[in-house]
Amino acid sequence: MSFKSAYLNRVYETVSERNSGEPEFLQAVREVLESLEPVVEKNPEIEKNGVIERIVEPERFIQFRVSWVDDNNKVQVNRGYRVQFNSAIGPYKGGLRFHPSVNASVIKFLGFEQVFKNSLTGLPMGGGKGGSDFDTKGKSDAEIMRFCQSFMTELSKHIGADTDVPAGDIGVGAREVGYLFGQYKRLRNEFTGVLTGKGLTYGGSLIRKEATGYGLLYFTDEMLKNMKNETLKGKKVVVSGSGNVAIYAAEKAMELGATVIAMSDSTGYVHSPNGINLDVVKQIKEVERGRISEYVKRVEGAEYFEGCRGIWSIKCDIALPCATQNEINGEEAQMLIDNGVIAVAEGANMPSTPEAIEVYLKNGIMYGPAKAANAGGVATSGLEMSQNSMRYSWTSEEVDAKLKDIMVNIFHNAYNASKQYGDEGNLVLGANAAGFDKVAQSMIAQGIAY
Ligand code: NDP
Repeated sequence: MSFKSAYLNRVYETVSERNSGEPEFLQAVREVLESLEPVVEKNPEIEKNGVIERIVEPERFIQFRVSWVDDNNKVQVNRGYRVQFNSAIGPYKGGLRFHPSVNASVIKFLGFEQVFKNSLTGLPMGGGKGGSDFDTKGKSDAEIMRFCQSFMTELSKHIGADTDVPAGDIGVGAREVGYLFGQYKRLRNEFTGVLTGKGLTYGGSLIRKEATGYGLLYFTDEMLKNMKNETLKGKKVVVSGSGNVAIYAAEKAMELGATVIAMSDSTGYVHSPNGINLDVVKQIKEVERGRISEYVKRVEGAEYFEGCRGIWSIKCDIALPCATQNEINGEEAQMLIDNGVIAVAEGANMPSTPEAIEVYLKNGIMYGPAKAANAGGVATSGLEMSQNSMRYSWTSEEVDAKLKDIMVNIFHNAYNASKQYGDEGNLVLGANAAGFDKVAQSMIAQGIAY
């Protein structure tokens, strides 16, 4: 399918040629450009200033070797990445992902999305992302530490509190951030807010751990209220994943009166019609770093199913994909619709394929796309940066209140932009247009490098 605008067609053609073999990145670019059609049409300044061809090309892409020694004294080599995508509105900001599926395409798709998401938060943060194909599963603590130290030895040359501020993502939690921060400090002899998601004893922000999940529910609550005069009370919710985002999404959903009936990991899912016991999930995933299949051995009335995708066949009112990219395809989206789902809000990045998104929009359900719905994590990272700069800490209540305000504003900004561009309630269009606007204006104001 081609774009209506000749300008967008030209740009997308170049992007496809330059990045052939990078399907995730091209998928993310296409989705954004599709929704920017009406924006480009209304604002000729965008084409005149070459904004689109500039915004799709990362300012910098760094790839590096990460060699480390395992517990058997064998040398291991992984690949490290950092994409510094756009710094028009602030220092690059975005997480690090450690997972075997990480490659240039995945990092670039995440970095590109981050540009718009960070802008949507209203905070001064540019977009970046990084990571490695390192698999944290089955590694000892000492191996994780040595890997993180080696990774940071190279990364430290490219980041800084006013340049680029990484954080966690899949496979990078408090433990990894701690080792990364320690190594940065050793190498640079600087105690600065160069990473977010830090431990509370050394500059971390209260609520950062919970922020993406809590923020997702603040967004979902506002979406339900404003678009369908609904609330979370009494709703049956399916949450995929059982990592950082999923656990705190489930926690806030329950606090707001919903029943979470299923959760998953990369090998399978548990269905618990009377409600998941989150303390058990936390014990298995956060403390023991075990498998979700353990859950049914500890809680009566729950069933375990092999394979993570089957979770979308469970009848529910609200689906919250919080695991990984492309975890819901067109057929699975149709299954959700047939089972009466009223809303899908994304905790993970790009969890729905383009076909799935088409199904949501065609059927008129409420759909909160990732870059709006999961922006609470990076927003709270932004709040952590502010606290580090001030050398001051806000209370949980203060951070939580700011997070809630930000998520409510993101919903309204996206909703209003969808109205402004003629497709009221299409939050894909709304989030892309609202996120794009500030970045584009800043790029135009800052001129082009000759
Ligand atoms: P974690 O590593 O804490 O958890 C990831 C979870 O997803 C685990 O339960 C993992 O299972 C599961 N998973 C991984 N791959 C698959 C798969 N193919 N199918 C089903 N489940 C899978 O990561 P996060 O919770 O931090 O991140 C989850 C998503 O949220 C990602 O898309 C991330 O980019 C996004 N995100 C995260 C933010 C954050 O603040 N952490 C901010 C914004 C977005 P297993 O235990 O088996 O590995």
